[in-house]
Amino acid sequence: MNTTLICIVCPVSCPCDVEWTQEDGVIKVENNQCKLAFEYVEGELFDPRRMLTTSVPVDGGNWPLVSVKTHVPIPKDQMLEAMKAIEGIRAEAPIKVGDVIVPDLLGTGSDLVATRNVTTV
Ligand code: SF4
Repeated sequence: MNTTLICIVCPVSCPCDVEWTQEDGVIKVENNQCKLAFEYVEGELFDPRRMLTTSVPVDGGNWPLVSVKTHVPIPKDQMLEAMKAIEGIRAEAPIKVGDVIVPDLLGTGSDLVATRNVTTV
């Protein structure tokens, strides 16, 4: 099969022409300016992942919500399930950037971590 994928590893955004099959994987990548495209294309075709970013309500904080993200990307097809799993979660102030709000979200190996500080009121 032949596909064109835009590499998003850096802002150059190379439009990579990819030859691949389910059986053999990625056979050829062209039109890329560096070798990082190969790993990106392989992941995008066979194990697409995304960072999940959202916010969680906070009890007792100077802000009503704390922004959160997965510390590493999770499988793209688990994004909706992950959002459902986060529904109803509340965090307790104080919270520091990097605090784990939900460990090992859905068994993905990715923790949901805070991306801002929230102090107590
Ligand atoms: S192929 Fe290399 S230069 Fe092109 S977008 Fe990807 S990382 Fe950037």
